[in-house]
Amino acid sequence: MNKTILILGAGTGGIITAKELSKKVGNKSKIILFEKEEKNVFEPSLLWLMVGKRKPQQVYRSTNKLASADIEIVIGEIENLNPENISVTVKGKEYSGDYMVISLGVEQLSEYNLNQYGHDFYTLDGATNFNEELQNFKGGKIVILVPSLPFKCPAAPHEATMLVESYIRKKGLNSKTEIFHFTPESGPMGVAGKELSGAVRQIVEKKGIKYFPEHQITSATEKKLVFSNGKTLEYDLLAYTPKHQCPKVIANTVLVGKSGWVEVNRNTMETNFDNVYAIGDITFIPLELGKPLPKAGVFAHYQAEIVAHNIAQKINKKNDFKTFNGDGQCFLEMGDGKAGYAGGNFYGSPLPIVKMKKPGFFWHWTKIWFEKIWFFKYF
Ligand SMILES: Cc1cc2nc3c(=O)[nH]c(=O)nc-3n(C[C@H](O)[C@H](O)[C@H](O)COP(=O)(O)OP(=O)(O)OC[C@H]3O[C@@H](n4cnc5c(N)ncnc54)[C@H](O)[C@@H]3O)c2cc1C
Repeated sequence: MNKTILILGAGTGGIITAKELSKKVGNKSKIILFEKEEKNVFEPSLLWLMVGKRKPQQVYRSTNKLASADIEIVIGEIENLNPENISVTVKGKEYSGDYMVISLGVEQLSEYNLNQYGHDFYTLDGATNFNEELQNFKGGKIVILVPSLPFKCPAAPHEATMLVESYIRKKGLNSKTEIFHFTPESGPMGVAGKELSGAVRQIVEKKGIKYFPEHQITSATEKKLVFSNGKTLEYDLLAYTPKHQCPKVIANTVLVGKSGWVEVNRNTMETNFDNVYAIGDITFIPLELGKPLPKAGVFAHYQAEIVAHNIAQKINKKNDFKTFNGDGQCFLEMGDGKAGYAGGNFYGSPLPIVKMKKPGFFWHWTKIWFEKIWFFKYF
């Protein structure tokens, strides 16, 4: 008998899960992929959009293009979900299944009224609007602000500052411009270890970017930011990361643990409910060093492959199960056509073991290649 698999959210994790399951068991299952957005944005490209290296229409595809003979797309907000019965409701219609994969990512909100004064560069509109202002910028103070933790892609704000610095320098505005990065974190990409964090800080500061860790914003006005340590800064152009929280439809369910996120078996991504899995940014996976596994597409991607494999094993009545081992990599765009690349094992004990390769043109072109492959392969 055909099995029905409900995949919640067509972001990084949901897309990979659906496509892998289609390859493995598409002929003997019904795969339903639920997504509220019609535009499917490849988020790493938002950083290039900020500095005019992409046009808005180059960084997304239509979600409907994910449909295939084995994958049904349901566009609409999931209003309710029941892990016990393995069912969801969209636009008042209930869908039930045999397996459920929750890959709903994070809900993004504006805080401190920052949406009135700056641009949320984690969205298509925010990155587009930031770029429009940047094009007309004649000099002054630019701030990249992280107002709260956690935020996805620990590298992204650093990449944003370095890409903006490169843009400003090429426009000949560097003598009239200061670039600031404020964040509550104690250092860049801290989970990856002191050595890597120190190296990234050095790269950023060498470019003249003013980096202020352990700075928690407390209020903002049209021209001024105020921090909990009493520091204030008058700025001219602001880009910020949004507040990240567990999507409402999940937040009130028993799936959410003390962390405020979905807590799973870190190797199998199983929840407490049979045949219900959660992957990617919506999960909370504590690491030995006391911090959680960062929220990043690379983890959503690998976890999706594992979950798809294991569901296919169950459907095929086999038991060659695989586990997610905490491996991950990330690019670090540095401007001037160069990037760094770091990778390793985040489940490393007692600390993650992550190393950075020598930055250069190669990694930048590899990131571009990855973007092209993503759109080509899945849309
Ligand atoms: C600027 C930027 C740069 C980045 N760069 C990198 C990078 O270089 N490398 C990397 O590894 N990661 C990067 N990331 C992070 C990466 O994009 C995310 O970590 C990744 O997309 C998480 O995958 P996910 O499947 O968990 O969630 P998502 O990809 O966010 O997918 C969740 C989906 O669920 C949908 N959804 C949510 N609620 C509902 C609902 N109620 N009903 C229906 N649908 C719903 C959402 O619309 C969304 O499409 C970057 C992120 C940003 C913002």
